[in-house]
Amino acid sequence: MKDLIPYIKGPSRYLGNEINTIHKDLNKIEVKFALCFPDLYEVGMSHLGLQILYYILNQDPRIAAERVFAPDIDMEKKLRKYNIPLCTLESNIPLKDCDIVGFSLQHELCFTNVLNILNLGHIPLYSRQRNENHPLIIGGGPISVNPEPISPFLDGFIVGDGEEVILEIVNVYLSWKKEGGKREELLKDLTKIPGFYLPFAFYPRYHLDGTIKEIEELLPHYHKVKRQIIKDLDSAPFPTFPIIPYNKPIHDRLSIEVTRGCTHGCRFCQAGFIYRPVRERSPQKIFKLIEESIKNTGYEEVSLLSLSIGDYCPLKDFLPSLMDELSSKEVALSLPSLRVGTIDKEIMEQISRVRRTGFTFAPEAATQQLRNRINKKIKEEDLFKTAEEIFAKKWPSLKLYFMIGLPGETEEDIKAIAELAKQLAKLGRYKYQITVSLSTFVPKPHTPFQWEHQISIQESQEKIKFLRKMAWRYGFRIRWHAPEQSFLEGIFSRGDRRLHEVILRAWLKGARFDGWRDKFKFELWKAAFEDARLNPYFYLVERSKDEILPWEKIDIGVNIEFLWQERLKSQQGEITSDCRFGTCHQCGVCDFKNVSPIIHKGEKFDLTLEKSQGELEKHKYRLTFSKIDNARFFSHLELINIFHRAFRRAGLKLVYSKGFHPLPRISFALALPVGVESLIETVDVEVYGKYDEGDLLGKINPHLPQGLHITHAMEVPLETTLCPPSTQRFIIDFSPIGLNREKIKEFYKKESFVWQKLRNQKVKQVDLKKLVKYIKEKKNEKIEVALYMPPEGSIKITEAISTIFSLKEEDIARLQILKVGIEM
Ligand code: SF4
Repeated sequence: MKDLIPYIKGPSRYLGNEINTIHKDLNKIEVKFALCFPDLYEVGMSHLGLQILYYILNQDPRIAAERVFAPDIDMEKKLRKYNIPLCTLESNIPLKDCDIVGFSLQHELCFTNVLNILNLGHIPLYSRQRNENHPLIIGGGPISVNPEPISPFLDGFIVGDGEEVILEIVNVYLSWKKEGGKREELLKDLTKIPGFYLPFAFYPRYHLDGTIKEIEELLPHYHKVKRQIIKDLDSAPFPTFPIIPYNKPIHDRLSIEVTRGCTHGCRFCQAGFIYRPVRERSPQKIFKLIEESIKNTGYEEVSLLSLSIGDYCPLKDFLPSLMDELSSKEVALSLPSLRVGTIDKEIMEQISRVRRTGFTFAPEAATQQLRNRINKKIKEEDLFKTAEEIFAKKWPSLKLYFMIGLPGETEEDIKAIAELAKQLAKLGRYKYQITVSLSTFVPKPHTPFQWEHQISIQESQEKIKFLRKMAWRYGFRIRWHAPEQSFLEGIFSRGDRRLHEVILRAWLKGARFDGWRDKFKFELWKAAFEDARLNPYFYLVERSKDEILPWEKIDIGVNIEFLWQERLKSQQGEITSDCRFGTCHQCGVCDFKNVSPIIHKGEKFDLTLEKSQGELEKHKYRLTFSKIDNARFFSHLELINIFHRAFRRAGLKLVYSKGFHPLPRISFALALPVGVESLIETVDVEVYGKYDEGDLLGKINPHLPQGLHITHAMEVPLETTLCPPSTQRFIIDFSPIGLNREKIKEFYKKESFVWQKLRNQKVKQVDLKKLVKYIKEKKNEKIEVALYMPPEGSIKITEAISTIFSLKEEDIARLQILKVGIEM
């Protein structure tokens, strides 16, 4: 698979040698474990759960855990064209040769990607088609609380916190492998692990109206699968050296999980029920994790993860000390998932000390009546008070999430969304950007709303249309989640096993990346439902209390009667308080022996973070470096990030610009095209403190990825600017495609040799005769080219070569182009 890297978009995503990756000697391990994320690399690498499992598994010397992401469309085409199997990133192991393949299943719109990964990995799609020679295929993540629609494709699912059981699964697998048993025996053995759901141990039968008649239990000891719960986050394993992607992932920052679980009890929110109870990590532990992780990654932003960070009990006490330390290191703090009412002036002041981004809140409903029904305990006056403070602090934007189609919603509730946004826009005197983000309510399993109906696509569209009109009139921005995508989410979220056929047919028709609006093709899904003769609307109707639901055999800990009572309370507009701050409502999750809420309230703690140095004198260093081998695939933007974080990991105290978004004072002489190697690149960096030039090399080089190496460092005056060279010299090896000498002759013969390209809707045209100083033939099908770089701009070496030799992009990718010299 690695051989395809030169020919695809975003090649750095497939290299597999990012900083902090783990490469083991495959001859010395017993289990090859593929951790699959069924979405693009940029999404998967933003997911903390994947990094946690990668760390836990690789801590064990018997296991090599390696990553696999859904290949982008261009990579898929190439894999199919050359019949190359999809492989792991680290050691290029074909998926079919792994022992265990584990999928992280975060949402319902990743199902076709799961099938695609299995198929590209040369693994039969259905569990029943696989034998002892195939890997064990398991899944985990929130989808596991109702995996039925996708269950025929996987062998089993982990329900609950994966950290608890992942190694037990490996142990059972290894014993089975040593004993050489049948595949069915392995699957049966796995059912002894608490939290392991084996779909084929249950057999659903249906009534004529399509509802479930019964779910037969096929194994004598196996009745219900209980969700596994990490008791205490402080003792849970957490990686302080996470992998740092080369390119920009969706969340390009260090993520530290501060709390797991939330007991606000918002009745639509699945996370609020399937991750109970609240377990807070202690402030000391958080400090320690942040300190170590920043050292090991060089990240310039930390995000404190929680379902509702404002509710983290020690937040106010530890934020000032944490920010003292972070701001001295130019590390920004982000607090996603803030709740109105939990953020005040002090918190705002603290987080604005390094960088300011926008604020996001999720009122979900715009009237008190509807908020009471969904148990969203926020008040309008708190929202206005917070907004006032945000505007007073001149934060750039405010984003509000609302749901449409909630149970009990009236026309007034929809109008109130527009009214609320209008008042906020007015409060900010129309100077601040107010964005309303809409999504259609999807009833989720294991919530009090699991019995509710979901509105149709048309109803969603009408509500969105109305609010778009209001947005235009009242001066706020509006964004919305596609109703067609919510429609599918609704079907699969409460779906049953019969839906596997729809998933298969949609995938065969070409459905991929259904969570991406630009790639989502609803017509394929409509056709897939028709072909499978299943009525999609059946899955969106209201369910009765006595109906057997597809997730009947999965016990997340919250008892069904509690959920039903919550539904009734919703109809009465009655609120249920958050148990973390008072009364236990006996939802059923805690036994108060092994599982109970963990809150760090009123505890004393010492801040023991390492103190940074005081202010030192500024110095500027010019570094010459080579960029060869796999480093040739780094884009210029990636290179900036790589150097920035390598300098930070090396312990250099960088100089930053002032303002809302401080940037490091790092500048490169030139941007090298992706795929071109160089022995002579230059970067200037400003730092506090003086360094011996030789020491600087020894300090930085160990923190650079393979292929990047600083060869020379010298101090330059602070006021010096880095000028691009006037000429660059390249050696180009044509041996893979053969050197066409006629083209060189033709070039020399012509008076002018025009290259042109459409850039920013303008035709750029240059005469190559003025830019290419010479083309000299060397030994072994190689040539040397000198490219002039006039101040008004030049072209890339790849553009010059493809024009002179009339080459296609694929041919250029096969050449070895090495920059060997410059003239100033
Ligand atoms: S059992 Fe009580 S304390 Fe535990 S999560 Fe449920 S309501 Fe909260």
